[in-house]
Amino acid sequence: MSTLYIVATPIGNLEDISERARHVLDSVDYIACEDTRTSSVLLNHLAIDAQTFAFHQHNEHQKLEHLMNILDARQNVAIISDAGMPGISDPGFLAVRAAHQAGHSVSVIPGPDAATTALVASGLPCDKYVYEGFLPQKKGRQKRLKQLVDEERSIVIYESPYRLQKLLEELRKYMGDQRMAAVCRELTKKFEEVVRGPLKTVFDTFQLRDEIKGEIVVVIAPKSYSE
Ligand code: SAM
Repeated sequence: MSTLYIVATPIGNLEDISERARHVLDSVDYIACEDTRTSSVLLNHLAIDAQTFAFHQHNEHQKLEHLMNILDARQNVAIISDAGMPGISDPGFLAVRAAHQAGHSVSVIPGPDAATTALVASGLPCDKYVYEGFLPQKKGRQKRLKQLVDEERSIVIYESPYRLQKLLEELRKYMGDQRMAAVCRELTKKFEEVVRGPLKTVFDTFQLRDEIKGEIVVVIAPKSYSE
């Protein structure tokens, strides 16, 4: 029986790779990478010279067969994404399901992910939260936003820097200017920052900037939360 390893990798700071992740990546027969060029930076940093192949959202269905053939041939495979935990708004789920169904072992090597890092950094309640990932960009977006208005858990949303202000405007429209929120940007990196406060304050802070750059997670407080 073979093992499919799901290996979390850093979301910015290469020092966040775990010893166990390093060991597994060094020992598997193949590494399935979301982007082989991106992952080569990490693998070079770790001095790991592994056989890699691309496994991303556009070829995931097609490459799944290749991945399963490797496991069936009693070889081990690790999946890594560009950053963080595979399967979390990244490829991984289909392979984990297929490996379970085929009777292979699945082993997750835990590590960084942007959602829980942001949630804890936000200073908003983290005893219960809902992970929304990226909201739909067009169809279903307004409906989803309306459904989130009465949420009594903290809400974690991934967003592009180019669409941050549009999202904050929408959140203000549906949830009101006073709902507490935090924008967590460039986590674990040199220009890491958390901008937190009522939605209007957070919006105004970014409105003053010429440009909004970097990777962003928005955390919104539960409906009844106040401070
Ligand atoms: N699998 C990843 C994880 O475990 O978080 C998420 C991959 S998803 C394609 C990429 C999104 O994650 C970015 O658009 C951003 O919303 C968030 N993200 C990734 N790295 C981040 C960082 N260092 N700081 C803030 N957000 C980050």
